[in-house]
Amino acid sequence: MQSISVKCKLQVPVELRSEIDRTLLLFADACNQIYEIAKRENCWNTTKLHHLVYKPVRVATGLKANHVCQAIRRVTGNAKAVKQVHKFRPTSINLDVRTFQYIEDLQTVGVTLMCGRVKFKLSIGNYQLALLKGQSPTAATLNKTKHGDYYINICVDLPTSPTGKTPKASTERSRSVIGVDLGRRDIATTTNGESWSGRQIQATRDRYSKVRANVQSKRTRSSRRLLRRLSGREQRFQKWLNHNISKQLVQNALVTNATLAFEDLTNIRESLNQKLRSKVERRRTNNWAFYQLRLFVGYKANIAGVPVVFIPPAYTSQTCSRCGHIHPVKGKSYRNGKNFKCGHCGFEHDADINAALIIAALGKSVSLPGSPGMSCQLEGQLSLFPMIQVCG
Ligand SMILES: [Zn+2]
Repeated sequence: MQSISVKCKLQVPVELRSEIDRTLLLFADACNQIYEIAKRENCWNTTKLHHLVYKPVRVATGLKANHVCQAIRRVTGNAKAVKQVHKFRPTSINLDVRTFQYIEDLQTVGVTLMCGRVKFKLSIGNYQLALLKGQSPTAATLNKTKHGDYYINICVDLPTSPTGKTPKASTERSRSVIGVDLGRRDIATTTNGESWSGRQIQATRDRYSKVRANVQSKRTRSSRRLLRRLSGREQRFQKWLNHNISKQLVQNALVTNATLAFEDLTNIRESLNQKLRSKVERRRTNNWAFYQLRLFVGYKANIAGVPVVFIPPAYTSQTCSRCGHIHPVKGKSYRNGKNFKCGHCGFEHDADINAALIIAALGKSVSLPGSPGMSCQLEGQLSLFPMIQVCG
């Protein structure tokens, strides 16, 4: 099981804002009182501390019983997590099964405040809806942002299946595999022939980096500030993009009941940088965007129950997906720009799709029952996958 918290915006009518604020203030007040007593008595055990503080704090603040219990937990939890506890501020409150309820039919939450139980509508999208579907969560945190918005973080437990070793996946022996090639020209290409073009994206990134180079030469305080904002915008753009691509990849795999196969990019930075490249090209490849994309895919696939396998990155531009021939000279490939032409059988294809096909083929052998695990050595896989033979 994997515990995640689902962040949902609350629709709070104006007249209820002060009610939430009052409860947040008293909760922080209670935490500060409890912290002082715990420090004075040097008592950080939740149960022992409860005996010391529960009655006086409840009388002093007028909070509900379970609010006080949660305040005690907040203090002891905080003491364990951080060395120096600062003053508790009225920005969040922990809720439990007695003070919080999620009502799926109405898309509302019930929250116990000082004035009693109040219902709030949630403003959420399909992503949150999917995560909350069928859940009966028993814990949440209500937060107030510095802009004055209210959010509730609902804790849910999700079943995990990152290795494809769930009973469901292992019984489906004939699962198909979608190979995903991550490249420069196209961000991602799949065996189904889909690709997410990198051109517009690259144009945007080039534009950002041009502006950055301009600004960097000035070195004033305002230029430094602009630089920070630029990198923030570029990052948000890339993040938005990766969220979209990963969502589509996982959805495709889900509807076709397929496994997703990726190259294991752990060492790709080193191998890419060994070759001489122009500065522009280095910047284009040497980035964290692929790592983020893979991270998002892993996370979304996990939630959707789609298995993901990683295969070693070597050979994907050197191996023919039709005859399995590998370029005999180490480090050389049959790839010429966008094209792949096999020197053995003459097979010609889109180089990215050829790579995706190889990834899928290797991914298939990895996801077969009884294989060693998520990632593996290529030599071992080649023997599992009779179509590919090492030549040379
Ligand atoms: Zn061939």
